[in-house]
Amino acid sequence: MMSTGNFSYWERTAFIDNADVIVIGSGIVGLSAALHLKTRQPKLKVLVLERGFLPSGASTKNAGFACFGTASEQLQALKHTPDQEVARLANYKWRGLQRLRQNLGDENIDYHQHGGYELFMEGENAGANEAIAHIERLNNLLKPAIDGHDIYAVADAKIADFGFDGVGHMIYNPFEGQIHTGKMMRALLNKCYQKDVLVLNGCEITAIDNEAGHIHLTSPQGNFKAKKVIMATNAFAKQLYPHLQVVPGRGQVLVTKPIAGLKLKGTYHFNEGYYYFRNIDGRVLFGGGRNIDFAAEETPEFGHTDAVKQKLTDYLHNMILPRQDAEIDYWWSGIMGFGEELSPIVKQVEPNIFCAVRCNGMGVAMGSLVGEEVAELAISF
Ligand SMILES: Cc1cc2nc3c(=O)[nH]c(=O)nc-3n(C[C@H](O)[C@H](O)[C@H](O)COP(=O)(O)OP(=O)(O)OC[C@H]3O[C@@H](n4cnc5c(N)ncnc54)[C@H](O)[C@@H]3O)c2cc1C
Repeated sequence: MMSTGNFSYWERTAFIDNADVIVIGSGIVGLSAALHLKTRQPKLKVLVLERGFLPSGASTKNAGFACFGTASEQLQALKHTPDQEVARLANYKWRGLQRLRQNLGDENIDYHQHGGYELFMEGENAGANEAIAHIERLNNLLKPAIDGHDIYAVADAKIADFGFDGVGHMIYNPFEGQIHTGKMMRALLNKCYQKDVLVLNGCEITAIDNEAGHIHLTSPQGNFKAKKVIMATNAFAKQLYPHLQVVPGRGQVLVTKPIAGLKLKGTYHFNEGYYYFRNIDGRVLFGGGRNIDFAAEETPEFGHTDAVKQKLTDYLHNMILPRQDAEIDYWWSGIMGFGEELSPIVKQVEPNIFCAVRCNGMGVAMGSLVGEEVAELAISF
């Protein structure tokens, strides 16, 4: 129920009042949670409240890699995480991607499995040697997680095909794919609408109060009431629950103008995954560089820094597209939610209030399952 505003009887009864579950945040996790609630219990009234005109976090700002980790990322994780946990997470991402494709359909999200490549620069032999030496170990560990496939293989012979400069080694993973992130989120929204989920934009929740069996939500548009609330606000989770261990991390991204005769095709990572690029519509999307200044990028604010823009521009012209007149057409940034542990936080934070946050920059892969998990949790109470 809204306590303020000039809302008509019609608006209150058709749009605003009597939600069984309110989901805060319309990113991939929030919408997947809403979708799963309606799939499991079609009669539930589910309302999604989003602060932005569009989703305003990571889900419409990402790179659209359907990936589950480079060899170096897996090795890095193995330094502080038990083997079985690393394998479990790879399997979780793998299953999450299958679920995303199943839910929305490959055509609707522009899914293409062109494979993924990890690049090592000439002179970065230590990292390359370590990753290459551990390929067999990683394949053995992760094979059961990815339906019995060997994942990683050295692919140095293909470096020349892509026209890169300064790349010394390359590891190929044929099971990685790419999507059109915008189309994916529209398809997910459409699926939610089909199931009669209502999504209201421009509605930022500023406070949550749990009183007398109902949850009250405050927003500049007025106050809402629901029996249960799912908080899917990811990097912004601390704004409502300061104790949640979620640290924001900004990612800066560019897309070039179309490039005649573009050779690269697939998803590419380098520098332990801190840089990533891919083809999209005959252009190159390139992002990363958070590691240049972690403190500056640990922010919930969108924006750019000269240092990151400069570094991305240098790599683009000198390594990815050398000797080509690549022009940059778009710049944007998105905010991820990170934590020391690699798994997301899916739990009850108060009676009848649940959260699903912190996909650690891997929410395209994980988000569908994280949403499902929190929906199941909310239903079970
Ligand atoms: C640059 C970049 C590149 C990435 N590349 C990839 C990739 O290639 N592959 C991959 O798997 N993952 C990638 N990710 C990560 C992925 O996008 C995220 O993990 C995923 O989108 C997280 O989804 P979410 O729903 O948890 O969060 P979000 O999409 O951030 O959604 C949270 C929503 O909550 C809303 N919100 C916040 N506070 C409030 C409030 N108080 N009231 C109402 N609404 C609120 C926000 O506006 C936002 O829309 C990337 C992320 C970025 C930023």
